[in-house]
Amino acid sequence: MKKEFICPYCKRAVGWREVTPVRGHYAACFDENGVFFEAAYSDGMNYYYKSTTYECLKCNRNIKGAVLRYKKEQGND
Ligand SMILES: [Zn+2]
Repeated sequence: MKKEFICPYCKRAVGWREVTPVRGHYAACFDENGVFFEAAYSDGMNYYYKSTTYECLKCNRNIKGAVLRYKKEQGND
C-alpha cells in the first residue's frame, strides 16, 4: 500500500522537489532568418546526483534524509 510522504517540518502530506546540479550545455539553433529549428543538450552532460537536494514543495526546507528514508520504505514493499 502506498504511504503518503509527510514532511518532517510542516507535517503535511506533500510532494518534494529534487534539484540536481548539472554540467554541460544546452544549444539552440536558428536559421538564417532567425527562426529556431533545433535544440540539443550536450552529450557530455554530467549529473551530480550526489549533490542532489530535496526540498519540500510546501515549506521549502531541506528534507533529503526524510525523502531518502521514504523512498527506501517504498522500495521494500
Ligand atoms: Zn514541508
